[in-house]
Amino acid sequence: MRQAGEQGTLFVISAPSGAGKTSLVSALLDRDEALSVSVSHTTRPMREGERDGVNYHFVTREAFEAMIARGDFLEHAEVFGNYYGTSQVWVREALAQGRDVILEIDWQGAEQVRRLMSGCVSIFIVPPSADVLRNRLTGRGTDAPEVVERRLREAAEECRHAVEFDYLVVNDAFEVALADLQAIVRSHRLRMPVQQVRHQALLAGLCESA
Ligand code: GDP
Ligand code: ADP
Ligand code: 5GP
Repeated sequence: MRQAGEQGTLFVISAPSGAGKTSLVSALLDRDEALSVSVSHTTRPMREGERDGVNYHFVTREAFEAMIARGDFLEHAEVFGNYYGTSQVWVREALAQGRDVILEIDWQGAEQVRRLMSGCVSIFIVPPSADVLRNRLTGRGTDAPEVVERRLREAAEECRHAVEFDYLVVNDAFEVALADLQAIVRSHRLRMPVQQVRHQALLAGLCESA
């Protein structure tokens, strides 16, 4: 546990739709209790199996626009014809409590967050091929064929922004991609500014002894 008043690390994860970002983040959260994911607000219709407040906060366009006007979002963007946005208050409070936070957002949101939150760590996830991406999106069975086609068309645009991210993870074998994500998170927790706070007493004691 870090000390009060200290900042957690913000991880920003983007990927073309269907690359496996939601599945990977969910597995990562299951294995790492110190990580929390920000639940975005969206105007897209709820999919079967999704729950309000768990997968997203599902809101109307009018409600979303009122939130934009109030400055409630850290970032927001229009993706595939729907609004998506990240709660400013939730993210800042979680980080202030020293928690590590994940944002699963598109490249436009990632660009905004990189500008606003220095020290954030950005990760781009890609599928092993375009054919695999099509199979995953179709196989997921959550979106109408025209929605799948739109998402595939926009995948190339999302991927053009991959090089702007700090890390690239290829989601071919799921467990390998998951281990890669765990390695990124773990290495960031070992950085000196973080370790200096966590092990303040140890370092002070060692420096005074002998
Ligand atoms: P999926 O990620 O393919 O399952 O599809 P979603 O409909 O859940 O998300 C659609 C797009 O919106 C993806 O590119 C997400 O990264 C993006 N997205 C989700 N939440 C947010 C958010 O809070 N802010 C921004 N900017 N984009 C988001
Ligand atoms: P995203 O959140 O990026 O849109 P999902 O996590 O919903 O992607 O994954 C899309 C589909 O691909 C889901 O049906 C998921 O179970 C499947 N999937 C994810 N990763 C892999 C993988 N490494 N191998 C095979 N299928 C995968
Ligand atoms: P889906 O509708 O399939 O859940 O998500 C579609 C896309 O919206 C995903 O690529 C996802 O990353 C993005 N997305 C989800 N939430 C947010 C958000 O809060 N902000 C931004 N910018 N993108 C988001």
